[in-house]
Amino acid sequence: MNTYHVPPYVLRRPKTRIVCTLGPASASTGVIRGLIEAGMSVARINLSHSTHDIHRETIANVRTVAHECELPIAILTDLPGPKYRLGVLVGEGIEVGDGDAFTLMSGDRASVSATAKRAPVLPEGLDRDVAAGDEILIDDGAIRMVAVSVEGGRILCRVASGGVMKTRKAVAVPGRISNLPYITDETRAALDFSIEQQVDFVGLSYIRTADDLLRARLYMRERGLNAQLIAKIELAQAVENMDPILAEADGVMVARGDLGVQMPYAQIPGVQKRLIRKSNELGKVVITATQMLESMIHAPSPTRAEVADIANAILDGSDAVMLSAETSIGKHPIESTVVMAETAREAEKLLDHEALVRRRAARINRHVDEAIAYSACWTASEIGASAIVAFTESGSTAARVAAFRPNVPILALYRDPAAGRRLALRWGVISLEAPALNSVQWMFHEASKAAVETGFARDGDFIAAVVGMPIGVPGKTNLLRVISVPEPQPSFRAEVVTPPSRAGSPAHGRAARRGSAPSR
Ligand code: PEP
Repeated sequence: MNTYHVPPYVLRRPKTRIVCTLGPASASTGVIRGLIEAGMSVARINLSHSTHDIHRETIANVRTVAHECELPIAILTDLPGPKYRLGVLVGEGIEVGDGDAFTLMSGDRASVSATAKRAPVLPEGLDRDVAAGDEILIDDGAIRMVAVSVEGGRILCRVASGGVMKTRKAVAVPGRISNLPYITDETRAALDFSIEQQVDFVGLSYIRTADDLLRARLYMRERGLNAQLIAKIELAQAVENMDPILAEADGVMVARGDLGVQMPYAQIPGVQKRLIRKSNELGKVVITATQMLESMIHAPSPTRAEVADIANAILDGSDAVMLSAETSIGKHPIESTVVMAETAREAEKLLDHEALVRRRAARINRHVDEAIAYSACWTASEIGASAIVAFTESGSTAARVAAFRPNVPILALYRDPAAGRRLALRWGVISLEAPALNSVQWMFHEASKAAVETGFARDGDFIAAVVGMPIGVPGKTNLLRVISVPEPQPSFRAEVVTPPSRAGSPAHGRAARRGSAPSR
């Protein structure tokens, strides 16, 4: 007989998901375990930095710890995208002062080595995307230059605001649309790595149009990866193309770091709110990212403004919030995650669940699956149910319920571990691996058992179960049943559906390993 168990630290998790970027400060199994216990459900690997060998090891560590914790922890790789960067600069970098002349080498000159007065920019092409008078921002605006002239691959600049330029720091020309193809050599290598690692989510940096996203999706699908695509909105052009991008993406990230380079700072809160609202309306995942706890890279506690920023992102409707340098290179990766989780838990107390469910109900628009998800949330609230249990094939049934933001826990019973990990970005979902049953009576019994064994329901409580029929076909949510716990075991024998292939899925849940499906 299988049993369900959720560790106490998962019960304490906020409903908002936490994405942690892993790097030198957090790549060890010990720190990864600490991050998971503090609330991380998605590990982000930024492929713009470090080497694939190091990332391979970090991903292996995440999978080892996830396996030990028996939790569906997802991996999100973040592609470099068509972004210009400084080439390799020796030593500590190049110091430039205000008013200095400096040359950025592009085109066929990009292969030259750096000196105190010049630096290469890769990939080649910046000289075609910049004109005299343009502002050029290096390292997300830490250093500002103005192009004085562009001559055959040499971009002669005057330094407007100096600093130390370091290897591979980003080079941006605000307001200019880059002519680079979406899949540059660097991005192709990152896609190939994501395919090799069979990751769950891929973050698309510097996406400009829905077409960029479709190219990346086609590239991955043709090579056997069906990961969810998170469009990072960080260019003014992507903000303009928000609607078509959202229509194609599985989710979006409000990538405020680059957004603040590409657009005036003052416009970021407006873009954030618009993007979150539109994502919520479409039921797409939205991650708010960057500088959320920036001061904690060095300090053991956050600023009040950072805490307010996290809370506001949650009240705006974020499914997930993200830590970048705080966890990848910061001094306090675990403490940052603890602060994020505490702040999220407190902010969630302010959510008006009934209003959120009602607001989303206006968009049901004759869709049966949406109507059932809404009915489950409304019914659960009206009868004081202890949980909503969603049987989910691809993850979409549970995701649909989560999009309504109900005030009760959502237990997702999945059989394919990839679906469990896909739900790691979904607001409020607790995923449990379950046997695959082909009778609804057995499923209702299983729902009741899962809710009781995890402590979400006690005898006499109501739970709402959401199922799709025919069983085993994704995207067919059409059945809601209110169960008075405990639901008796059916008198006939359960037939277990053969689960989909689990090859290459190391993070299996507890339910699968603890035993077989129930039988008489
Ligand atoms: C951002 O710009 O906010 C972001 C998340 O992207 P990256 O970390 O790749 O700069």
